[in-house]
Amino acid sequence: MTVREATRRTEVRSGVVRWFDDSARDLPWRAPDRTPWGVLVSEIMLQQTPVVRVEPAWRAWLEQWPTPADLAQAPTADVLRAWGRLGYPRRALRLQECAKAIVERHDGVVPRTDAQLRALPGIGEYTAAAVLAFAYGKRSVVVDTNVRRVLARVVAGTALPAPSYTAAERALATALTPDGDAEAARWAAASMELGALVCTAKAPKCGACPVAGLCAWRSAGSPPDAHAGRRRTQAWAGTDRQARGRVMAELRRATEPVDRALLARLWHDPRQLDRAIAGLVEDGLAEQDDANRLHLPN
Ligand code: SF4
Repeated sequence: MTVREATRRTEVRSGVVRWFDDSARDLPWRAPDRTPWGVLVSEIMLQQTPVVRVEPAWRAWLEQWPTPADLAQAPTADVLRAWGRLGYPRRALRLQECAKAIVERHDGVVPRTDAQLRALPGIGEYTAAAVLAFAYGKRSVVVDTNVRRVLARVVAGTALPAPSYTAAERALATALTPDGDAEAARWAAASMELGALVCTAKAPKCGACPVAGLCAWRSAGSPPDAHAGRRRTQAWAGTDRQARGRVMAELRRATEPVDRALLARLWHDPRQLDRAIAGLVEDGLAEQDDANRLHLPN
């Protein structure tokens, strides 16, 4: 790397962190009284659900189950009901499995090493790195979709990153992460926040960006996305996922097991409904009794 590029990267980091100091959202999982467990729960919820929907669910969740031990002991049906409409409810099951593993392996304390975190159910590279940085203030390379987009634009000069996370992106993110624990954790939070609030996917607010003058994509004239044809768009209407969502909503509402025949009114395509129900049972999100009635797992 040239001296000029190294200087530019240092300026990018300091510009983004300064902006973050003034502009960071006041989120409960960032509050001084947050717990490592609260951070871990927030990261699982935020994986596929926007902040605005996560915040009230997170508060209610931590009120009900303030520690891993509390969640580990909860009836699974209550856990799935509390997950409510956050979507992708397998995350709720995994979070409860994770809580049980924390109790069994770590005396109920969220572990503070990458290897121990990644050995927990549902915790991958990103979540382990985020917990290390945001719960324990340790240096880790935290790369979510927002960070990928910011780095693609500012440093690589492309509209969006490749459809899948690449080794080159990991190397770049590692190189940009400051050496000190506190500085690295701050950079992680700041670069994520910039992607979430300013350098957004569809309409980046370059006029309000603290590093607009350093942005490679902008200085190249904002060329279009080279991977546009390869990106998957996630359909929802008419999919098995939508059918599964309808069944789960019904089971969450029900106080008694629901006759399978009654679920037929929820969906127009009986074969697709059968497939959705079979998938829910297979995933452990629903159980079927001998009388052909469905209910949430106990
Ligand atoms: S100038 Fe625009 S594209 Fe570049 S980092 Fe800032 S918001 Fe993103």
